[in-house]
Amino acid sequence: MAEIREGLTFDDVLLVPKHSDIASRSQVSLRTRISRNIEASLPLISANMDTVTEHAMAVTMAREGGIGIVHRFLGIREQADEILKVKRSGSVMVENPYTVSPDQSVADALAYERDMGVSGLLVTDGDTRRLVGVITERDIVFAPDRGARVRDVMTTDVVTGHEGIGLEEAKRILHDNRIEKLPLVDAAGRVTGLVTSTDILDAEAYPDASKDKKGRPLVGAAVGVKDDFMDRAEALLGAGADVIVVDIAHGHSENALSAVRNLRKAFGGAEIIAGNVATAAGAKDLIRAGVDAVKVGVGSGSICITRVITGSGVPQLTAVIDCAAVARDHGIPVISDGGTRTSGDVTKALAAGASAVMLGGMLGGTDESPGTVITKDSKRFKVYRGMASLAASMGRRAKEGAAGDDINDYVAEGVEALVPYRGSVREILAQLSGGVRSGLSYCGAHDVAQLQQNAEFVRMSRAGFAESQPHDVAVV
Ligand code: IMP
Repeated sequence: MAEIREGLTFDDVLLVPKHSDIASRSQVSLRTRISRNIEASLPLISANMDTVTEHAMAVTMAREGGIGIVHRFLGIREQADEILKVKRSGSVMVENPYTVSPDQSVADALAYERDMGVSGLLVTDGDTRRLVGVITERDIVFAPDRGARVRDVMTTDVVTGHEGIGLEEAKRILHDNRIEKLPLVDAAGRVTGLVTSTDILDAEAYPDASKDKKGRPLVGAAVGVKDDFMDRAEALLGAGADVIVVDIAHGHSENALSAVRNLRKAFGGAEIIAGNVATAAGAKDLIRAGVDAVKVGVGSGSICITRVITGSGVPQLTAVIDCAAVARDHGIPVISDGGTRTSGDVTKALAAGASAVMLGGMLGGTDESPGTVITKDSKRFKVYRGMASLAASMGRRAKEGAAGDDINDYVAEGVEALVPYRGSVREILAQLSGGVRSGLSYCGAHDVAQLQQNAEFVRMSRAGFAESQPHDVAVV
């Protein structure tokens, strides 16, 4: 048997402070690469889990400069719709605005509007797509007769802009007419787009947002390695996903490697992240198969019991160091996934060679994570669960119509948990980014690349760890 190495994780080490000429945190850049061709101003990614990332989380992550990965435990159409919702929100010029027909009932229109999470719909005439009116919440919410047709309540006197209008001209028209929505039409009066004042204000309020070439929020989407994963990837890319994340617990498996090869072959230029692996050999094989970033972490997640159930895994800091050493030679970024509990952990993961960090538990329990707030003993919580937990698996099997199978056949590798309700994820991201910027400045680093060059870890004893926490005081 080979010699047994020691594996370390975040709480085993500290970063040694270095001379710093940084006077303020604003001098520190956290700009990074999420994958080979995707850059972001915040090195944070929300996890592809059904209690973490759907469109609301992905929109906020992109606004704040990171990116969200929409989980795959939805039908293909539903997951692609989540991507479409992200792409629509915050894009100053919406390309395919939602429309209804004048003959639909007001109740249907209202339901559609709420489903799509928008506050107004364009009314177009059948297949010609010619604009005949608009309806907003105001027009329909108190309509006395829900059976009435859209044509009975819509506003027909609509100010429009021309296809290809510039932002400044659109703003002027919105202002001159004191309106909030400007449908764009071509010479034949067919709808080609929509500009809304909320989207313009959003774009101006979030200058560091992660955006695609068309100015729409960046978003990723997860796929598995079996069954319909190729069709799913095609639908997700078609909906505008900027990156596909091949999501499997043991990423250093032939299943995962062949899935990556097949995706690479079928969708040549698409950005592909895959994982999870925890070794240099795993990273190397994924890179050979054609990935644009390697996701690292086996057994490190807060809801994960993989190490307990299987005895397998590598402490997260060592896993990141080992994978990053290989990936660096190929110019491929590494994402540290799982086990991050503090901004200090994020800084340590970056210093160890990760370009970005994927977060689950830290972002669960927020307004933007799926699920409702539960009150228990007068405290508020949300559910956060492992995707290999019994609960997640039962939900999945029920959806797939396999609910009658013997659940005893399933060996869970994750748990279901309650995490405290924490308000908007924006506050958490602000705290994290502030903490990581400070972390870089302690290391004398202006950016992530410099951090990785300068970083010096020191191992600490149990006493060192105890000393690192608040101690000998009653924290209030
Ligand atoms: P956290 O940030 O420590 O909560 O870890 C989140 C990560 O845990 C995810 O991004 C996944 O890589 C991993 N994960 C999610 N569900 C499970 C599970 O059921 N078992 C093991 N790991 C999981």
